[in-house]
Amino acid sequence: IDTEITAAQEIIRDNQDHTLFSWSKQKGIDPIAVKRAEGVYLYDYDGKRYIDFSSGLMNVNIGHGNQRITDAVVRQMQEVAYVTPSCVTKARGDLGKKLAEICPGDLNKAFFTLCGATSIENAIKLARLYTGRHKIISRYQSYHGSTYGVMSAGGDPRKIPADAQQAPNFVHIDIPYAYRWPYGKETLLSDSVAQLERLIAYEGPGNIAAMLFEGESGTSGCFKYPEGYMKAVREICDKNGILLIIDEVMSGFGRTGQWFGFQNHSIVPDMVAMAKGLTCGYLPFGCLMVTDKIAAKYDDAMLPLGLTYSAHPVCCAAALETLQIYEDDKLIENTIAMGKYVDEQVELLKQKHPSIGDWRNTGLLGCIELVKNRDTKEPMAPFNAKPDEMKVMNKVAAKIKELGMYTFVRWNFIFIAPPLCVTKEQIDEGLAIISEAIKIADESIGE
Ligand code: PLP
Repeated sequence: IDTEITAAQEIIRDNQDHTLFSWSKQKGIDPIAVKRAEGVYLYDYDGKRYIDFSSGLMNVNIGHGNQRITDAVVRQMQEVAYVTPSCVTKARGDLGKKLAEICPGDLNKAFFTLCGATSIENAIKLARLYTGRHKIISRYQSYHGSTYGVMSAGGDPRKIPADAQQAPNFVHIDIPYAYRWPYGKETLLSDSVAQLERLIAYEGPGNIAAMLFEGESGTSGCFKYPEGYMKAVREICDKNGILLIIDEVMSGFGRTGQWFGFQNHSIVPDMVAMAKGLTCGYLPFGCLMVTDKIAAKYDDAMLPLGLTYSAHPVCCAAALETLQIYEDDKLIENTIAMGKYVDEQVELLKQKHPSIGDWRNTGLLGCIELVKNRDTKEPMAPFNAKPDEMKVMNKVAAKIKELGMYTFVRWNFIFIAPPLCVTKEQIDEGLAIISEAIKIADESIGE
């Protein structure tokens, strides 16, 4: 009866009755009803605290509840909340200048968007217009968003239910995934580069507008590009007149210990798609950064891109303040230090837990891969597992939640990507929860 349910249960019920949930069966889900959030913690309506070990969806890099963003947003709202993209504001100009400063090379011009998908949709469109070519090469398993173009560019199996309507002219290549590369790790780099070169030859280099890769892999399992791979990709692009679009939506803004993930590979892309950590979820926002060379094409020709909310002043103000917080709070330095600490601690967990097959991490973008058997590497849940195939992983995920953690659990992956302001003590707290939950997976081995 209504009067007997808690405040949290009532909120959950209203949400379930009247709103739809992404990527889920609508029945049987058990969301956290979040009342407030601060730093690395979420608090529900019943007062339970959860440590957020995936920074929301790997976007709340500066942590939750930062008053500086609220103040910046209020200030901008009071001055001017909205102008059309054909007008300008100080916040827009300042933000463009700041992004040009933190981006290497001649990535100097920003087209402001609404989210990750709209940044990449516009990158694809611009690459095709700029080159006059039509094909885009990207990776199987990558995720670039859920609208049709970027869904088609992506290789994430979440597109499979809708792939009858895929957009044309997207070509995919396998991921250089060291842990599961069938031909041996020694030749991973040469094999994967040769595979890419073959693909380009098969597809016709003159028809390929761009390659689209994540700066570092995220939801596909934080696998690492083999050393030298991204440099080879850059060279192959240059040799064939192909543009290189790097998706920094998840790996950008300090997450991997650099402003951008591609900086770990000493390359400069032609376009960089950004979102998430640009405003850390305080407001939805995105940006497509392009080189002077690409921008110059439109000096005397119409740029055929547009969004009603492009360069929204309040989002620009939030982003500017966010970027300042990364610097003032030395969050990139902290990411490097805490990333090393997580690596050391997970190494210890590996000794304790036979179900940990692999651990991959760059900065604070990491993922534990659970297996049933370390020799055969049989995953604890199969690739693209349906909820009822997630048996043990569902129990591990439920235990993680019960013990007071929110994190992203997918198939046999547990993500470790806390806000970049995380401390050693908080990492210990989170890893203790994961360690406790993983016992369920350990115990299932041999069952
Ligand atoms: N690109 C990457 C690498 C992502 O991880 C995501 C979202 O998770 C996107 C693009 C899509 O971003 P959005 O959900 O803001 O459209």
